[in-house]
Amino acid sequence: MTGLRAVITGGAGFLGSHLCERLLDQGAAVTCMDNFLTGSPRNVGHLMGRPGFRVTECDLTGFVHVPGPVGLVLHFASSASPADYLRHPIETLKAGSLGTLHALGLAREKSARFVLASTSEVYGDPLEHPQRESYWGNVNPVGPRSVYDEAKRFAESLTTAYRDAHGVDTGIVRIFNTYGPGMRPHDGRAVPTFIRQSLTGEPITVAGDGTQTRSICYVDDTVSGVLALAASHFAGPVNIGNPAEMSVLELAETIRRLTGSCSPIRFVERPVDDPDVRRPDTSLAARRLGWRPRVDPETGLLRTIAWFERELRGSDAAAVS
Ligand code: NAD
Repeated sequence: MTGLRAVITGGAGFLGSHLCERLLDQGAAVTCMDNFLTGSPRNVGHLMGRPGFRVTECDLTGFVHVPGPVGLVLHFASSASPADYLRHPIETLKAGSLGTLHALGLAREKSARFVLASTSEVYGDPLEHPQRESYWGNVNPVGPRSVYDEAKRFAESLTTAYRDAHGVDTGIVRIFNTYGPGMRPHDGRAVPTFIRQSLTGEPITVAGDGTQTRSICYVDDTVSGVLALAASHFAGPVNIGNPAEMSVLELAETIRRLTGSCSPIRFVERPVDDPDVRRPDTSLAARRLGWRPRVDPETGLLRTIAWFERELRGSDAAAVS
């Protein structure tokens, strides 16, 4: 990656900040573009001052200008947590549509490789299990989650059209639930919520009866998969996720055990259109990118819990002082 200049939209978010760090470690120059809707300059604060790193406050749905050459555009700008995109429905649709249009325009102008962060949510509430890239999905186009799912489906279509019509070197990665250090304790996703509740002794809120399944992938693995796609010329779409599937109740119980918590489990109402099952078929990623996840869920959860412990201790100390 030495000599490469990468632009990462949404670079101050959870995944974006990890991508910024890994690319800098590999010798690339990195421009992080973000409007800080759900991300924060704090997420990349530790990277400030590193050679080649720049942060630009910018809303991708408006005019986008980056001076000089760019070799890679990673388009990650979009809310990703259901709580966030339900709070920001129009912004989410605009990030997936106008934001993707402008990020593709930038890649075209610079003759750069372009990678779209798509999602397992394009499969909706899947009727095929596990999900292969050939599955077209089962999305309710007027349900509350559609602002995210349909925006990403449109973004995939737009990315494909730019490849076909303008010859842009595009890749589409369908990311499955990713977790790790750097997530916001209140971002509403299952892993940070369960860890925060376990560490603070609050009840662990499991939606429905908790039999719905998820497959969680540690952030370092997801970043490796995204960068393997970026380094190739493969169009995808390609699933990146960890096939180790577990029920949401199992996830809650695992986190409670790993934190040594006594928090009770409380069953709460299940959100509308919440998928019943989720597990990636990752054989395409293995075959085309030589990628497979390496961090098992317990190891990844222990690392994440250790980070959250430090984070929550820090916010307690700040509240006292
Ligand atoms: P995040 O909310 O932490 O990060 C998103 C970032 O995009 C934030 O920093 C936010 O401020 C920024 N952003 C939003 N709208 C913008 C706009 N119009 N202009 C500029 N910046 C904007 O979410 P995340 O978990 O890091 O997800 C990043 C990307 O990866 C998203 O595109 C998401 O759809 C995709 N993804 C994530 C997961 C996951 O499990 N984390 C799974 C599938 C797909």
